[in-house]
Amino acid sequence: MDDIFGRQQSILIADVRVNGKCSDIFVNDDGTIGAAGEGIRREHKGEADLIIDGNGAIALPGLVNTHSHAAMSLLRGYADDMILQDWLSQKIWPLEAHLTPSDIYRGTKLACLEMIKSGTVAFNDMYFMMEEAARAVDETGIRATLCYGFIDLFSPEKREAECRATENLVRHIRSLNNPRIKAAVGPHAIYTVSPEGLRWCAGFAAQEKIGIHIHLSETEKEVNDCIALHGKRPAAHLDDCGILTPHTIAAHCCWLDEAECSLLGRRGVSVSHNPSSNMKLATNRAMPYHWLKAAGVNVCLGTDGCASNNNLDMFGEAKTAALLQKFSWNNPTLLPAHEALAMATANGAKGLGLASGTLVTGAPADIILVTARTACNTPLHNATSNLVYSCNGGTVGTTICDGRVLMLDREIPGEEQILSEAATAAQELVRRAQSA
Ligand SMILES: [Zn+2]
Repeated sequence: MDDIFGRQQSILIADVRVNGKCSDIFVNDDGTIGAAGEGIRREHKGEADLIIDGNGAIALPGLVNTHSHAAMSLLRGYADDMILQDWLSQKIWPLEAHLTPSDIYRGTKLACLEMIKSGTVAFNDMYFMMEEAARAVDETGIRATLCYGFIDLFSPEKREAECRATENLVRHIRSLNNPRIKAAVGPHAIYTVSPEGLRWCAGFAAQEKIGIHIHLSETEKEVNDCIALHGKRPAAHLDDCGILTPHTIAAHCCWLDEAECSLLGRRGVSVSHNPSSNMKLATNRAMPYHWLKAAGVNVCLGTDGCASNNNLDMFGEAKTAALLQKFSWNNPTLLPAHEALAMATANGAKGLGLASGTLVTGAPADIILVTARTACNTPLHNATSNLVYSCNGGTVGTTICDGRVLMLDREIPGEEQILSEAATAAQELVRRAQSA
C-alpha cells in the first residue's frame, strides 16, 4: 500500500464533482493534470498506474496558506488569552529563545502533516533556521515559499548579520533544486526593520527575482508610531523603501486606510488575511476587504502561526474570514462563500506565483478530494456554501500535490512518528525554557 504514496505516477480519479458536474480527472506522471471532465475514465482507464474511486467526492484545487510560522506548531496551546505584548514578551519569546534546529524540523513536520490532513498543499512561511523547515517540507511532499524573518531592530551591526542570513537561506534553497520549495525575502515588519534594512530587502528580492513576505498594519500602534516617526502611514513608508511589488505578500493589513488600499492595488501587492489570529489577539479592526476589493487587490488567506490561531485548517479560516468581514463591517453580503473559497485557493496560488489553484488541463496536479457522504455535505444544495460554512479540514479524504499522493482516505505514512516526535520536542522545549 505504501508504494502509492509520494511517488510519480499517472492517476485516474474517477467519479468526482468538479464545479458541480460529475467528472473524472486524469493526472499525468509528470505531475500535471492531463484531462478533466465527463467520461475521461473511458479513455484513460487502461493507462493509469493508480485509480482512485472518488465516490462522489468534491474535487478542489489544493488550498494555499499565504501566511504562517510553521514551527510555532510546537507552541500550540502553550499560552492563550493574553494581551499581545505580554503574550509575546512573557510567553512566546522566552520559549522561542530555546528553539533548536531539530525543534524547527519537528515543528514544521507537524505543521505540514496538519496542512496535508486539512487539504493545504502550499504555504508561505516566515521564521528562522529555515534550512530545517526546508528539510521538513522536502520530506512531506508539500510546496512552500520559505523566508528568514529579517529583524535588524534598527542596528547597523545586526542588519549586516540579517543580510547574510537572508543570502545564506536563498543560496541554500537554490542548492536544493527542489521545484516545490522556493525562497523569499522576509523583512518582518516596519517596527522591527530599519528603512535601510527594508531597502536592502527590496533590492535583494529584485536581484534574485524572488518574492517578499512582510507583516503590515496589524495593530493601530504600528500605524501611529509610523506616522510619528516617518510622517506617513505604513504602506507609504514601505512604498518609499521599494517593498510594494507584484511579488509581495503583506500579512494582516487590518489598519489600512482607503488610500493605502489603492496604493497596494496600483503596486499589485497580494494581501494575506489572517482573521483567526486578528480576532484572538484583538487587533480591534478587521482588514478592510471592501476597499481592497474595490482597488483590485489580490486578497488571499493565511492562518498565521499556530500559537495565535491555534490550528492550520484553511477551511476554518475561510469561514472565519467570511464571518468576520460580515460582522465587522455590518454587511452580510460582504465576502460571499465563492470569494472566500477563491481566497483560499486561486488567489493564494496567484500570490505565490504558482500555476496551481485551478483544475484545468496542464495545471500542476494539486488536488484535494472532500468527502461528500458526510453530515456537513448533506444535503448538497450548494457545494461552495458547504465547503466554506459547513465543512472543516477533517472532511478532506485525499490530498495530492505535484501529482503525488500525500494522503489517501485520511491515511498518511509515518503520521504516528511525526506526532510523537513533535510532542516530545515541545515538552523538552518547555523544560529547557523553565529551567533556564
Ligand atoms: Zn505572522
